[in-house]
Amino acid sequence: MEFETCRMCGGDGRIGNALGGSSATCPSCHGSGRRADAAYGFHDVTKTKPSHHRAAVAAPAGPRTPVTSEGVQLAQEVTGSAVLAADAKTRLIAEIVNHESTHGRCTKTFIKKVRKQARAG
Ligand SMILES: [Zn+2]
Repeated sequence: MEFETCRMCGGDGRIGNALGGSSATCPSCHGSGRRADAAYGFHDVTKTKPSHHRAAVAAPAGPRTPVTSEGVQLAQEVTGSAVLAADAKTRLIAEIVNHESTHGRCTKTFIKKVRKQARAG
């Protein structure tokens, strides 16, 4: 089997230092003078790695949080409510999201209704 000579050192396995005249073992063929397969084309590992950045965050089936400014504010009032239990807060926020999806926004009547519950006590 015939080997091609190393293209970096020309086959002598050592490369001369242009400045000092001393020679060092060829980094490409490691002194063998033969062109290694790996040296033929350096694999750019950083570019062939599967990109983790492109792994998009799995989108939920539907919006879980309000999208309108009124809804967001209302949800904050519900979350910060001192009189509502955790499950009631979850239910109310779900109501806000549901209300938004059906009405496109939070109606004043709805906001009042939710606020009344969040502030009751
Ligand atoms: Zn070489």
